[in-house]
Amino acid sequence: MKRYFKCEVCSFSAFIAVVDPELGLLQGNIRCPSKDCSGSLLATKTKIKEAKFYSARALWDLSVGLGKKEDSWIPEARLKKILEGAVIKEIEVVELEGKNRCIINNITLSDNTVVHLASSTHGATVYKVTR
Ligand SMILES: [Zn+2]
Repeated sequence: MKRYFKCEVCSFSAFIAVVDPELGLLQGNIRCPSKDCSGSLLATKTKIKEAKFYSARALWDLSVGLGKKEDSWIPEARLKKILEGAVIKEIEVVELEGKNRCIINNITLSDNTVVHLASSTHGATVYKVTR
């Protein structure tokens, strides 16, 4: 299940997995993350074909001016260069009560690079890399 968001002014649209543990971040008025747009995002259950996937945290970060859209494009070669052979310093993990499973929100490497993860129907998704 997905929840769609569309800007009331420009063409920005996004979708979030309803199982996203941070979906609660996206309640109330969500500012459109598009540059120079003063619109708000409206939640809808209607499918928006051109909507891009975000984790709730990533969309929230963008709406409050943290992070950049470009951060959400992580080509395979860049990710491999960042992760292969890297030393993990810290992992932000949430335990799913009664499920015998954990969710990894992000991985901090020894050079303070943070790889942010989210779930998708295709598997674990890297949606942002920050430093
Ligand atoms: Zn907008």
